[in-house]
Amino acid sequence: MDDRQFRTAMGKFATGVTVIATELNGEIHGMTANAFMSVSLDPKLVVISIGERAKILNKIKESKIFTVNILAEDQQELSMIFAGQIKESREVIFDRLDGKPVLAGACAQVACEVSAVHVEGDHTLFIGKVTDIHLEEKEPLVFFNGKYRTLAEV
Ligand code: FAD
Repeated sequence: MDDRQFRTAMGKFATGVTVIATELNGEIHGMTANAFMSVSLDPKLVVISIGERAKILNKIKESKIFTVNILAEDQQELSMIFAGQIKESREVIFDRLDGKPVLAGACAQVACEVSAVHVEGDHTLFIGKVTDIHLEEKEPLVFFNGKYRTLAEV
């Protein structure tokens, strides 16, 4: 099994798209991620998985907080900005939820405090204790087979 086959197989799992955001010393940093899932209802826990080369990794380790912004179908550009797929830097305005940076217009904003950290292979799993949630009635952006989609198209 080579890396490409593994990536292709994992790409068959259709997901939503999130932007993970954190804030350290007054600076907000965001990163696009689809390795996100709900872990526990009582207590309310989620998990994200961050690659060892991502700049956001040490920022979350230090700040001990992050938000998960589940992107809406009209937010593909934000996904591309925070995945480094749009090269020129763009100004993005963040709102606040429980004092943490969140993206306006997302389907869901989930504010978290890091409750555990597990290094697994070349990624780090952050377990987040959910401290607040904000919801909007919008359709999600979808990622499948390496491409952005909308539910209507699917
Ligand atoms: P950078 O490369 O520094 O940041 C990424 C981009 O965000 C840069 O262009 C930067 O300018 C911009 N940016 C950051 N903060 C701000 C701000 N405040 N205002 C404006 N722009 C800002 N990687 C994972 O580790 N885990 C995943 O689950 C994952 N899922 C992905 C899912 C999808 C659909 C895609 C497309 C990519 C995914 N990636 C994932 C890859 C990851 O998004 C990229 O590797 C990313 O570029 C790494 O970000 P970084 O923290 O190194 O930060």
